[in-house]
Amino acid sequence: MQPAHQILKTTFGYNEFRHNQADIIQSLLDGQDAFTLMPTGGGKSLCYQIPALVRDGVGVVISPLIALMQDQVNALRQLGIQAAFLNSTLDQASQQQIEQSLLDGALDLIYIAPERLMTERMLSLLDQTRVALFAIDEAHCVSQWGHDFRKEYQQLSILHERYPDVPRIALTATADRRTRAEIITQLNLQQATVFLNSFDRPNIHYAVSEGQNAKEQLWRFIQREHPQDAGIIYCLSRKKTESIARWLAGKGRLALPYHAGLPSEVRQRHQERFLREEGVIIVATIAFGMGIDKPDVRFVAHLNLPKSIEAYYQETGRAGRDGEPANAWMAYGLQDVITLRQMMQEGDANEQFKRIALQKLEAMLGLCELISCRRQALLAYFDETLAAPCGNCDNCTRPPRTWDGSVAAQKALSTIYRTNQRFGVNYIIDVLVGKDDERIRKNRHDQISTYGIGDEHTGAEWRSIFRQLIAQGYLSVDVDGYGALKLTEKCRPLLRGEQRLELRKMARPEKIKKEKRAQKQQELRTIDTPLFEALRALRLSLAQEQGVPPYVIFHDTTLAEMARTRPATPDAMRYISGVGEQKLKHYGRQFLQEIAKHPLPELLDNHLSDTINETLALHQQGKDAEAIAQQRGLKPATIYIHLAEAVAAGCLSARDALPLDDAQYAEIVNAIELLGTEEDGSLKSLYEALDEQYDYGVLRCLLAGCQINP
Ligand SMILES: [Zn+2]
Repeated sequence: MQPAHQILKTTFGYNEFRHNQADIIQSLLDGQDAFTLMPTGGGKSLCYQIPALVRDGVGVVISPLIALMQDQVNALRQLGIQAAFLNSTLDQASQQQIEQSLLDGALDLIYIAPERLMTERMLSLLDQTRVALFAIDEAHCVSQWGHDFRKEYQQLSILHERYPDVPRIALTATADRRTRAEIITQLNLQQATVFLNSFDRPNIHYAVSEGQNAKEQLWRFIQREHPQDAGIIYCLSRKKTESIARWLAGKGRLALPYHAGLPSEVRQRHQERFLREEGVIIVATIAFGMGIDKPDVRFVAHLNLPKSIEAYYQETGRAGRDGEPANAWMAYGLQDVITLRQMMQEGDANEQFKRIALQKLEAMLGLCELISCRRQALLAYFDETLAAPCGNCDNCTRPPRTWDGSVAAQKALSTIYRTNQRFGVNYIIDVLVGKDDERIRKNRHDQISTYGIGDEHTGAEWRSIFRQLIAQGYLSVDVDGYGALKLTEKCRPLLRGEQRLELRKMARPEKIKKEKRAQKQQELRTIDTPLFEALRALRLSLAQEQGVPPYVIFHDTTLAEMARTRPATPDAMRYISGVGEQKLKHYGRQFLQEIAKHPLPELLDNHLSDTINETLALHQQGKDAEAIAQQRGLKPATIYIHLAEAVAAGCLSARDALPLDDAQYAEIVNAIELLGTEEDGSLKSLYEALDEQYDYGVLRCLLAGCQINP
């Protein structure tokens, strides 16, 4: 493992392996096959990149993501790795050149799409090449049960027969138990060691709300939590992506649509801007995002229901890959459920496929309508147990209220029955609330016993009730395309009054999550912010010069560490996570120069804790203890303790720290001397001796001053 560690440190700039990366790498180095499940952002690609560098020969990476190969390869070249890709976007000459370097053994890694790999030409090229390993990325594409089936993947089993001595690693970030089993069978990986990582993404906050005014809800969410952040919004239809993008642009955000119907150069341009500029929002159909490696996507929003939990997990997994707090937000409504059911039933897929798709949709709906911890349910879907509720999902932080919906459900179901199960949800609601409507009169449905018996609920409330009835399988939606609601077998006990039905109450408007935002801001101290911004600007200009995304140069987390620790020499720079030799060589000088332009103020060049320095920095801006306390969300007493420590450390004189006039100052100092407080340290007797007119914090600071300058 020695060489692997060395490469981790010098090439990638990290000190330690994460999760079970080390075990996976070891097994490939031993020549064994591996099957790896690792959540997005877990460091999947290092698992094959490092062994490919250690072992003789070229690592062949099979990936369906042609559009992203260029970026993946660029990122590797930044690290000084000899990487290339072969796909249809290259011209003849470049292809030949790459094939030649392959034959010359000049490449460390090559990325190929599965359909190209399977060509005789490519296979015979590989026959003449020394192959270090095969990495099959997005391996769930091989499974029909999985949500992203690709036929060409099924031919990959050939690799095992043709190159029995070359170790293979299959990787995926999303696969339930059945998909995993299928991957192993289809790819002949029975001998492989299986490495299962937790699917948990603890930094992602999950929330699902009702589809009422979804657009407005979305805007409030973005404004409140992500006023400047990059994010992805998923919609079901192409038209909707465009209208939402326009609408957001009208509100002053840089928002771009992305869907399969746009010309490919427009798609490409929008994706590039998302990757290369700061704070861009992409509004996309599901066509967007697979393999997107942008670490600082701060939110993923769904304006429609995803088709399956895997899809939801994968799409939301694009948020927060850097491990910083991120949001997965969804609003879905009744119409989503109806549309998706119809799409699935009408499609021309075979019956088995439809059944699978419907089951997956049921599971997704179950997750949405849940009243307990969403993370527990999400992980349970992937056969993982989370012992306690997570505390970082909407149901944990604001437990939903429920109500006994049995009677309402009976009214709804019997109205459907009495109108012969021929009508859609809007009509049924009109009957329930007793709307004066010509169509209802013509059908004589104003004569039935349930006409108008539901006016205790608003239309919106009824929609919520129907959504839950459909989600829980009491109602099905007819295939004929008109969306008529039908009763299912499951209704009987409910209609007979033998069963109670607990329903979610409609949610109240979301409350602001104060703690979370405060936490995020704390990671960068006020004092470091200007330097951090300067480093980001430098990164952006370097990225633009080279035509690569900024994060390919350094991640935000790396820049933040630079801003905090302010390395002054290349050697000190080496200790920063994410700085490898190649990047140090290319960028070290420029970033060191920028850091040198921002020396730490003398006042803050000390060994006090971060929180004290934060207080000091604000104090230096002329703020008093009260103002600092308010800004930092701390008690004034805490701020005085900080100031007292700074006084005790000699960073600050007690005089400067406190808003006292000469007389007050003298009065307290005299009292301290008189009482001998310096020796006994009793603030209480000092406080009482001064008639309780000074705050304990003020006294504490002055006492600290007297103790160092007796
Ligand atoms: Zn939870």
